[in-house]
Amino acid sequence: MSTSTQPRIAIIGAGPGGLTCARILQRHGISATVYDRDASRSARDQGGTLDMHPGSGQKALREAGLLDEFTASARPEGQQMRLVGRDGRVLFDMAPPEADEIGGGADGEAGAAVGNPEIDRGRLRDLLLDSLHPGTVRWGRKLAHVEPLTVGVHRLHFADGATIDADLVIGADGAWSTVRRRLSDATPVYTGVTFVETGLDDADTRHAALAALTGDGTMMALDDNRGFIAQRNSHRHVRVYVGMRTGENWHRDAGLDLSDEVAVREALLKEFTGWSPDLLRFITDTDTGYTNRPLYALPVPHAWPHTPG
Ligand SMILES: Cc1cc2nc3c(=O)[nH]c(=O)nc-3n(C[C@H](O)[C@H](O)[C@H](O)COP(=O)(O)OP(=O)(O)OC[C@H]3O[C@@H](n4cnc5c(N)ncnc54)[C@H](O)[C@@H]3O)c2cc1C
Repeated sequence: MSTSTQPRIAIIGAGPGGLTCARILQRHGISATVYDRDASRSARDQGGTLDMHPGSGQKALREAGLLDEFTASARPEGQQMRLVGRDGRVLFDMAPPEADEIGGGADGEAGAAVGNPEIDRGRLRDLLLDSLHPGTVRWGRKLAHVEPLTVGVHRLHFADGATIDADLVIGADGAWSTVRRRLSDATPVYTGVTFVETGLDDADTRHAALAALTGDGTMMALDDNRGFIAQRNSHRHVRVYVGMRTGENWHRDAGLDLSDEVAVREALLKEFTGWSPDLLRFITDTDTGYTNRPLYALPVPHAWPHTPG
């Protein structure tokens, strides 16, 4: 430990986990600094929509004093869930829960949201960032490795050569965490499933049929180790995942250049031969092009020994 009255707390990663941690510490009068490799808060697209459950995400936001702000930005209607057959017919349509079905907030507390409402990941991140003391997040700080010094103290080495010593290092740097390497040899492995992400802008006007098929929440059409998942985001955007159980290098094996939109579209249409033309339009009517997203997961169970600092 340092001789100053407060420990030097370094949180690696300005995602929902790291920012929530920093906010709760600050609410308790404990200072912490967050380091993120992104050049700024707007350096990249912040992805789709996350559902917040009463016992986890909403609980953390209550501890952070941000539940009201969350409720104001959340989309309870986003809990609608629709299952569609490969022929394009709606097989199951679950409406979002009403407040009086579960007695007000899902956990019965004032200010709680109903059920597991959705929020855009980017909006959630903004809400957390805006709640922190100015200067809490240091952007453009990519952690390269963590060096143990004396017991409990670690030196953080950043990619730009800078170093910082910390009494407590909190690894919130996501699935490919650099901090985790100090504790565990586990690495994420390919799940066998790849999503190709695409999207529809101004969907209700420009893609009315696809927007109607999606509904207000999530639509899934899954069959034969393939499927479409369409998710309503804010600002009339629909985010679409075209999923396949396939090899990690499916595109290379097929001799496909991922930047060649026409070739990717043709390859996806071939994968979904025999599916309803109504669903195939999720592939053809893209406004965003195609982003290949192979899915990885850490082994389960995953534990590590207690390590001071
Ligand atoms: C850009 C992005 C988009 C996503 N989109 C979706 C989505 O559409 N749907 C969905 O269900 N889930 C999505 N996820 C995943 C989901 O949001 C995660 O489950 C959730 O974000 C986990 O939160 P976290 O704070 O633990 O980690 P993350 O959100 O993964 O945040 C980790 C942070 O650590 C930073 N970081 C990583 N390595 C380093 C390093 N070496 N040095 C410094 N900083 C580092 C990253 O820049 C990132 O800001 C997305 C995640 C990210 C990062």
